[in-house]
Amino acid sequence: MKNNAPSMIDPFGRMVEYLRVSVTDRCDFRCVYCMAEDMTFLPKKELLTLEELERLCNVFVEKGVRKLRLTGGEPLVRRGIMDLIRNLGKMLDGGGLDELTLTTNGSQLAKYSAELVDAGVKRINVSLDTLDEAKFAEITRWGRLPQVMTGLEAAKKAGLQIKINAVALKEVNEHEIEGMMQWAHGEGFDFTLIETMPLGEIDEDRTDQYLPLSTVRERLEEKYSLIDIPYKTGGPARYVKVKETDGRIGFITPMTHNFCESCNRVRLTCTGTLYMCLGQDDAADLREPLRGSNGNELVSQAIDEAISRKPKGHDFVIGRNSAPSVSRHMSTTGG
Ligand code: SAM
Ligand code: SF4
Repeated sequence: MKNNAPSMIDPFGRMVEYLRVSVTDRCDFRCVYCMAEDMTFLPKKELLTLEELERLCNVFVEKGVRKLRLTGGEPLVRRGIMDLIRNLGKMLDGGGLDELTLTTNGSQLAKYSAELVDAGVKRINVSLDTLDEAKFAEITRWGRLPQVMTGLEAAKKAGLQIKINAVALKEVNEHEIEGMMQWAHGEGFDFTLIETMPLGEIDEDRTDQYLPLSTVRERLEEKYSLIDIPYKTGGPARYVKVKETDGRIGFITPMTHNFCESCNRVRLTCTGTLYMCLGQDDAADLREPLRGSNGNELVSQAIDEAISRKPKGHDFVIGRNSAPSVSRHMSTTGG
């Protein structure tokens, strides 16, 4: 079903059709590249209510957004999240929305997979950087691998299509990447690799973590035939088919390849701030116009104004001792 709404076009002619919503900045894990261990989270009173988030999503869909992705923090730890997901799901099948999906760490999937399917969710991204239990605990600090594996089983059984997202981390999981690909493809999952991005202060040096995906690809090509394919999911990944496994690998390369030219996304935080680029600080407040009137005219105007300022791209650099390119964490803006 196509959305007949007017399109949102930015100054560079890119159509904005994809909204990522960080529904909470909180999480039950503390991944080393994402958060410091003693994170200070937003006071609850700063958050938009679930009803307010829903209203904003409705306005975006009326304005031309066709794909919504809920993220966080961990979206499935926000209380009442299934009510929001069910209500948003009503915009599928003729309500203007083509896809409702989420990115999750998998910890709550045993509980929610069946309900997600009922609400109209068809595909999910599950972040998983290693299949080694000890390493998993090290990377996520508070996470436990068996919980995620049980969640993945439940998701598969419920009929969700699954994409595993792994951040490529030098010396941490770089030698596991081939094994993870084999496992993911064996399970019928897509597998996507992401370069670590300089977002927010963490406890470690990012130069020590950064592994360019060009290197990973070259290594895989020594053993496998990777065939470029035009497969698209509306996100920033470029896909290849692996001839030997008959599975797909996506590469998200914000650092080694500028992925901005086809950017169709904007990001909304749980406080109602709209970021037009993951890698820039410029943002627009939608909370005040949202709360300022019962109608949606003010919010709609604020969104138009924000889209007219969407920047051309990010300026990420990872260097020793360099400060993060943007100070907010991925868990704030939503990955
Ligand atoms: N908690 C959920 C999860 O982990 O999937 C959703 C939010 S998380 C911030 C979204 C994605 O961002 C995850 O795949 C995570 O690995 C990734 N991520 C977090 N910090 C990152 C960073 N500095 N660079 C690259 N990816 C990052
Ligand atoms: Fe939580 Fe996801 Fe960040 Fe890990 S990457 S700390 S699971 S928000």
